[in-house]
Amino acid sequence: MAIDDHHPRVKSLLAKQQALANLTLEMTRQVELHVQPIFETALQQAGQALEAGMACLHLADEQHGLTRLVANWNLTPAWTQKWGSLSLAEDSAPALCQKSGQALELGPEQAPPGLGGLATAPVRGMDLTVGTVSVLYAGPPPLDPDRASFLESVGHLLGLAIEHSGLVSELMDNLDQLMQLKSSLEARNQELDQANRQLAELSVTDGLTGVYNHRHLHERLAREIARSRRLGHPICLVMADLDHFKQVNDRLGHQVGDEALRLTAGWLKAGVREVDLVGRYGGEEFMLVLVDCHLQAGRQVADKLRQTIAQRSRRQPFDALGGFTVSMGVAQLVPGMDEQELIAAADQALYRAKTGGRDRVETA
Ligand code: GH3
Ligand code: MG
Ligand code: MG
Repeated sequence: MAIDDHHPRVKSLLAKQQALANLTLEMTRQVELHVQPIFETALQQAGQALEAGMACLHLADEQHGLTRLVANWNLTPAWTQKWGSLSLAEDSAPALCQKSGQALELGPEQAPPGLGGLATAPVRGMDLTVGTVSVLYAGPPPLDPDRASFLESVGHLLGLAIEHSGLVSELMDNLDQLMQLKSSLEARNQELDQANRQLAELSVTDGLTGVYNHRHLHERLAREIARSRRLGHPICLVMADLDHFKQVNDRLGHQVGDEALRLTAGWLKAGVREVDLVGRYGGEEFMLVLVDCHLQAGRQVADKLRQTIAQRSRRQPFDALGGFTVSMGVAQLVPGMDEQELIAAADQALYRAKTGGRDRVETA
């Protein structure tokens, strides 16, 4: 016998199959937490496929002995009111189905007043009935041998949706905690980065003057010497020592002496290029490394710095002494010279500047 699409039974089966397919699709789409749209779609699909005028979903609250209406399709205000909250102790269809876990069908004779019939099926979670899905008919329901099993399928899918939403919300809670943890870790990392940067800076700078410290000067000088040898560009080393600095301390106090050191460091730094190095070699001695610089140019730079210091230091509170001055020795790195020899050459020039009367620049 050929299958006739127009046969009422076949039509009805196809409609149900379509309803389940639509519902499955909707559920897979609804990955998010909101189960309400799934409920509503399910009820509409069930109601239409079973040719019922109304459909509704109850979820049981065993603790309070109730089953509550959580979603409906086309339920009249009167039935919304009547079935809003049903006692599990009484004999309403959803309550009976909830307790028995069995689908239930009522015809015109058994249906509550005002209804032509109804069908209710359990909504099952893993293995317990969490609620019921019902379809309600205003008039006598059409003959349908598949009604109960179809409604059970809908109930099963709704159970999966509810279970799924529980899992998802659990996952979301964990995700929330993870995100919080992640952002607090990021904040900690930023603090650590900041602290590390500060430490790195501290480890290369002199605390009083802010220019490079002795250790870092040696490191950088060694690097500049290596670069100079490799690339063949000249470098000059300048040793600068404040003149009669003991007197500055003795007459104006150590704090004023410290201020003179800070100011000198600032003027030195401001007077050379970014690529040049300025550091505090010790006490009241500074070292400069002038990159890509011949002896004559080095001498000029040093002399300009010397003049700047002499002029700018004639200010409060140093003007009581007529300001302060600096002596400098300049040496250029020549082939075969190592770091120690370069420093020694600049030191010797500085010594000559001191013995020659101070406030002057001598070259090696
Ligand atoms: P010269 O012209 O020969 O260099 O004489 P000078 O007085 O500068 O040389 P000396 O080496 O006799 O004295 C250096 C002084 O520098 C003594 C020391 O107290 C002072 N000094 C060294 N470091 C600091 C510091 O950090 N702060 C202050 N205020 N003074 C310092
Ligand atoms: Mg000195
Ligand atoms: Mg000195």
